[in-house]
Amino acid sequence: TASRLSVFTESVIRGTTRLANQHGAINLSQGFPDFDPPEELLAAMERAARGPHHQYAVTWGAPRFREALARKIQRFTGLPIHPDENLVVTCGSTEAMMVAMMTACNPGDKVIIFSPFYENYAADAILSGAEPIYVPLRPPGFGFDSEELAKAFEQKPKAIVVCNPSNPTGKVFTRDELMEILRLAEEHDAFVITDEPYEHIIFAPHEHVYFAALPGAFDRTITCNSLSKTYSITGWRLGYVQAAPKVIAQARKVHDFLTVGAAAPLQEAAIAGLELPDSYYTGLTALYTEKRDMFLDILRKTGLPFTEPQGAYYVMLDISSLGFASDTAASEWFIKEIGVAGVAGSSFFREPVNHLIRFHFAKNTATLQAAGERLMKLT
Ligand code: GLN
Repeated sequence: TASRLSVFTESVIRGTTRLANQHGAINLSQGFPDFDPPEELLAAMERAARGPHHQYAVTWGAPRFREALARKIQRFTGLPIHPDENLVVTCGSTEAMMVAMMTACNPGDKVIIFSPFYENYAADAILSGAEPIYVPLRPPGFGFDSEELAKAFEQKPKAIVVCNPSNPTGKVFTRDELMEILRLAEEHDAFVITDEPYEHIIFAPHEHVYFAALPGAFDRTITCNSLSKTYSITGWRLGYVQAAPKVIAQARKVHDFLTVGAAAPLQEAAIAGLELPDSYYTGLTALYTEKRDMFLDILRKTGLPFTEPQGAYYVMLDISSLGFASDTAASEWFIKEIGVAGVAGSSFFREPVNHLIRFHFAKNTATLQAAGERLMKLT
């Protein structure tokens, strides 16, 4: 088999879910909710089952879905997104990122990835024939060092990947930080590939800044996004690429040959989500703020250190004091002995980091409480 496949491992996140299921652990590893999508989406899905949408949609997205999506994006970003010019509907942000990478990069091109990073980015770069170069984000704040970033840009990367709010750190990039990235990208004529599925899961006083909406950023930004987290539909696999028309024209070809299209009946049903009023989004933010507060209270009781997330729904717990030889061993021990699954932190880092476990809190109160009771065995 191809040698590029030996450069990265199977997803540790998805592997941890399988191990958690095998041992009946409460799964706080792979980030997805254990509660239902909004009622409007469930009703729309029932209607879609009886509708005429059971064959291929237009390859880059069903027209009605793209129109609703463009309106929703415009509502929050202020950008005049055109449904026929600026969007490709994909199978989750996962496919969107692969499409963005293959659209931006020639074999041998370099791509800047911040470390820690969501594990797909490195694999996506390598599968596109590109070479990742890493810039560290250091605790406790997980900001970047300006000089290190400028140095990485001197290697003439074709693109930089920015996950904001960031998985796994929970960092929310400030406008100033994003402007600094934009200035470097302009100076070195690089694309900025963003991944923003947690745009609505953000904790006050932090605010989400859409990279594409920064002054002068639109033409070089390839935004990848997803409906998974906003509408609690990770299994529907709906996402999109948003970019300038010239980029979209190429991205459509990549998407077409990768998947032909996202599920047609689910695109039809998801329109009901895109049309939800603003109050839905403020409710979502409030819900996740409550969950974050509850879960951080639990973690505080364990006495182990962590950095409070500013957005997204992950937190990395520092398990140094537990004395494990590796975080992989610790993750297995948490699953088998504590009954709570988290992802070994090393899977997110380029550097050898072995003392962190990532947990997520996108779970019902009862699930978080049960996890809390089990985690008390640590005290
Ligand atoms: N983004 C989620 C996580 O980091 C799940 C991603 C996935 O497994 N597709 O856990």
